[in-house]
Amino acid sequence: MTPAPPARAAVAVLGSANMDLVAYVPTAPRRGETVTGTAFHTVPGGKGANQAVAAARAGGAVTMIGAVGADAFGTRLRTVLTDAGVDTDGLRTTGGASGTAHIVVDDAGGNSIVVVPGANAAVDALTGGDEARIAAAGTLLLQLETPLPGVLAGARTARAHGVRVVLTPAPARQLPDELLAATDLLVPNEHEAAALSGTSDPERAAVALLSAVPEVVVTLGAAGCLYAARGADPVRVPAPRVRAADTTAAGDTFVGALAVARGEGRPMAAALAWASAAAALSVRREGASASMPYRREIDAYLDTYAADTGT
Ligand code: AMP
Repeated sequence: MTPAPPARAAVAVLGSANMDLVAYVPTAPRRGETVTGTAFHTVPGGKGANQAVAAARAGGAVTMIGAVGADAFGTRLRTVLTDAGVDTDGLRTTGGASGTAHIVVDDAGGNSIVVVPGANAAVDALTGGDEARIAAAGTLLLQLETPLPGVLAGARTARAHGVRVVLTPAPARQLPDELLAATDLLVPNEHEAAALSGTSDPERAAVALLSAVPEVVVTLGAAGCLYAARGADPVRVPAPRVRAADTTAAGDTFVGALAVARGEGRPMAAALAWASAAAALSVRREGASASMPYRREIDAYLDTYAADTGT
């Protein structure tokens, strides 16, 4: 008998939606200088929207709490989410501009970025049906690209309703004790882990962070990730070896897929392998949310993954 498919993981995401405006130049302009660029792309992003799309493509039932502006970028950001199957009833439209990230990439691969939060600044509290949206989820995904009071309100509400809180502490900043106390799983990259713990060794950083949260996954780019939980030795999970085309949003793909796998009740080791496969697939392709894999692709890739890493 074929086993019944797992119940869909219910995931709420509270966070940012941005339009990335990316200009490519031979050399970045200095102050007062004008340079001619070679290409320009608009790329829908923002960590909140990216995690929502990743979780939805991975098979989750996802709802997004956030805000976009009353402009063309806002319309496109909403469409990207709805196209992925994300419920956007909790995505408000504010009067001002959508969040934007103005990115200049030079020929040496260096970049400089100006982020204008725009509508994201309005996500500083829960409104309307947000509490019910969080309460109906099994997992709440949080990041730090929207104002801290809103992130805290989300975490508090999740905690009150027994909803698991997964926090991506990006961009890195000091975290209030209350937020850490409400976090079940912290997923920093190695730089964020170092900034939060004061040690650059990922294993030591993860162990140090366990004094604040019960579970930590430190992502390590091509080197995979490190999982640490209270009362057990940290475990390294290798990443599949892939030719990296674009690592944008690899971390968000990882978190979205991990939330879905855990929400379906998979054990942590299996969930980490599945999330690593999802992130590796996104790395092989250009783009942010556009590169994120669908559930069937992740499932199909898992065999190759096991072979690639020798596991
Ligand atoms: P990062 O935010 O760079 O630490 O990446 C997040 C996750 O994406 C990692 O834990 C890996 O699972 C995956 N990943 C990132 N870069 C690569 C890469 N070059 N090859 C394979 N997987 C990657």
